[in-house]
Amino acid sequence: MTSDIRYRRVLLKVSGEALMGEQGFGIDVAVVDRIAADIAEGRALGVDISVVIGGGNIFRGVAVASKGGDRVIGDHMGMLGTVINALALRTSLIKLGVDAIVLSAIAMPEICESFTQRAALAHQAAGRVVIFAGGTGNPFFTTDSAGALRAAEMGAAALFKGTQVDGIYSADPKKVPDATRFDRLTHAEVLERGLAVMDVAAVALARENHIPIVVFSIHQKGEFARILVGAGRATVVSD
Ligand code: UDP
Repeated sequence: MTSDIRYRRVLLKVSGEALMGEQGFGIDVAVVDRIAADIAEGRALGVDISVVIGGGNIFRGVAVASKGGDRVIGDHMGMLGTVINALALRTSLIKLGVDAIVLSAIAMPEICESFTQRAALAHQAAGRVVIFAGGTGNPFFTTDSAGALRAAEMGAAALFKGTQVDGIYSADPKKVPDATRFDRLTHAEVLERGLAVMDVAAVALARENHIPIVVFSIHQKGEFARILVGAGRATVVSD
């Protein structure tokens, strides 16, 4: 069965907004439980899975900057939000019996381990789902960029980007009903067309490191595991 697996090691980027469900803010535990169940399904296939979690459901640095505040402080607040989300996801995975660890790019040893590539690889080799918190650890970056960065550091075969819809469209399909959906694109096409799937820095980093980006719906139960075995619905961005 394992020979049918298309991607043996992946990094999954989950945005903070995916965790808030129908609420306008914060964490809906039932939604986090569901996403954790999808990750558990992937682990059960024997796939190495690490996760970069966003923080947009709690705070974005631009919210401070747009009101005249210090962007760097705002970004610190945003990065702290990702730690809260990471702890929530770990809690849901542990409830399902999936061993998982949170590694933060910002040191907070009373709460979780600090990120080093060495530690991350060792936890992954021990069979744990590694959840990366704190983004890149730097202001003016996003957790999408952290996703591409950690995918490269972990030697991931693909960067999975869970979104609200089932792939990349020419425009937001929720606003433009006749938007075109793409099955395949190159990194260069995503950048040239300005397709709003991940920020430019993230796509450029993935392109430089020849890491495919697999864009799929995080809300479609079971889709993650289906794509891991070469089925399911996604847009694949590759060289
Ligand atoms: N952030 C940051 N550096 C990073 C990653 C994130 O400063 O490397 C901050 C930034 O303020 C961002 C917030 O954390 O707005 C939440 O991350 P993001 O917006 O990427 O979350 P998502 O959109 O995935 O929920």
